Amino acid sequence: MDAHRKLTYAQLCTEAEERFGADAMTWAFRCPHCGDVASANDFIAANTSPNFVGLVCVGRHLGALDRNVKKYTGRGCDWSAGGLIRGPWEVVMPPRDGLPERSVWSFPLADAPVPAEVSA
Ligand SMILES: [Zn+2]
Repeated sequence: MDAHRKLTYAQLCTEAEERFGADAMTWAFRCPHCGDVASANDFIAANTSPNFVGLVCVGRHLGALDRNVKKYTGRGCDWSAGGLIRGPWEVVMPPRDGLPERSVWSFPLADAPVPAEVSA
């Protein structure tokens, strides 16, 4: 079980950039339920909005919510960071558009990609 962690949106962006580089489309989050690692690019590939990255498992957009399927066997699962078991990361969003500071729930960032082995 992943521990709850509270951080600001700016801290999340800084940490993601350190792990994955400046291209936010490659920032990857790990589903705390099934372990699937997905970036915004994976959500686009699943024909949905990249804005879902870190909020739900990519499986939700690949058929895991299809009630006609008895047992989903595709990639990912139906987990959501905003479900009954939230987070585990709590991201504090700055005030915007007249809205006060508020928290949103997020999957944890995935581990940094392992650099390709340098041949000697
Ligand atoms: Zn999942």
